[in-house]
Amino acid sequence: MSQRERKVDFIIVGQGLAGSCLAIRLMTMGKSVWVIDQPENNRCSKVAAGLFNPITGMGIVKTWMAEEIFEELFRFFSSTEVELGASFFYPMHLYRPFQTVEEQNNWMAKTADKGKNRFVKDVYTSAMYPHIHNLFGGIEVNQSGYLDTNAFLSAVRDRLIARNAYMDANFRHELLRINESGVEYEDVVAEKIIFCSGINSLAPYFDWLPIRPLKGETLSITFNERPKVIYNKGVYVVPTSESGTYKAGATYSLTNLSPNCTVEGRQELEDKLSALLKNPYQVQKQEWGIRPTTIDRRPILGPHPEHSNLIIFNGLGTKGVSLAPYFSNQLANWLTQQGEIHKEVNINRFKPLYSRS
Ligand SMILES: Cc1cc2nc3c(=O)[nH]c(=O)nc-3n(C[C@H](O)[C@H](O)[C@H](O)COP(=O)(O)OP(=O)(O)OC[C@H]3O[C@@H](n4cnc5c(N)ncnc54)[C@H](O)[C@@H]3O)c2cc1C
Repeated sequence: MSQRERKVDFIIVGQGLAGSCLAIRLMTMGKSVWVIDQPENNRCSKVAAGLFNPITGMGIVKTWMAEEIFEELFRFFSSTEVELGASFFYPMHLYRPFQTVEEQNNWMAKTADKGKNRFVKDVYTSAMYPHIHNLFGGIEVNQSGYLDTNAFLSAVRDRLIARNAYMDANFRHELLRINESGVEYEDVVAEKIIFCSGINSLAPYFDWLPIRPLKGETLSITFNERPKVIYNKGVYVVPTSESGTYKAGATYSLTNLSPNCTVEGRQELEDKLSALLKNPYQVQKQEWGIRPTTIDRRPILGPHPEHSNLIIFNGLGTKGVSLAPYFSNQLANWLTQQGEIHKEVNINRFKPLYSRS
């Protein structure tokens, strides 16, 4: 190693939710990291409303691995707030109005089975909130809330900068040198490099993976009410760090990936907001972003099939806030030889695609 070279345990490319959670995990374990990111180009974690909700989907089902994932989410974000001396984690109940009497009946039946519904605080059979359309009542969800993603990312970035472990620059693959003992990037030498770059920078090593871009748009709105819960009925209304401003979202498009906000996106969200809110609201801002989703809706973790020092942490899809704490822990344990990567999220499940590519 020359005088100019700097040795760290891990290089991380990308400081969105995936890279931030992983960097915190590794530093907490006493490992050294060096992170390269372009925050101005982040078009996913920074746009997210940051909602976490253990009960999702059209049929209102408990989300995948909800018990383990939500326990870890609460533990991780609360302890990281203390560790970084910043505020970004806001647990808050979520209220989901029933659309029909049938849905109300289904939920009454479901909550009879207590084991299945530890995430349900209450089921209401008549209107609970005067400012929204909720004639048939609804369910109030426990262990939900939101992460102020921008505040979280900045707090992590500040910590990295304080440790001289951060560079705001474009990572260029042609500058990466791979050898048997590790990797080198410019003057940084590391054991391994982990790509947490969302839908970008997958080529040339990870572009064979089935990571599909899913565009989303949101609206920032203001209205004359201070809801005590997050509303969620076809559209969510989540508080933001700006007092009186809420984020409403989101849209989902696999086909229109244009790098801009659209009239259709705004119309879709406004239609859904009108079906939810009784009173007028004002649109302050519209934003767009692209989520990295996978065909089986599970994250992707693990080493490149040929280059074992190149690792990926991606595919957080529509649920980065809930998935990143649990799976960054799993990956950090694997990187430090203290645990395994589960089969369901292991990159190995896509290996046949690599041999064909
Ligand atoms: C509109 C919208 C709303 C959403 N709402 C929610 C929500 O409410 N709750 C929730 O859980 N999830 C939500 N999501 C999903 C969530 O945002 C994602 O799951 C998550 O942000 C993915 O994080 P990531 O770190 O994998 O990727 P990213 O956030 O995309 O981070 C990747 C980082 O890598 C950097 N990078 C890439 N290439 C390079 C390079 N060559 N050099 C340097 N840096 C590079 C990028 O600049 C970026 O900073 C939403 C997404 C969208 C688009």
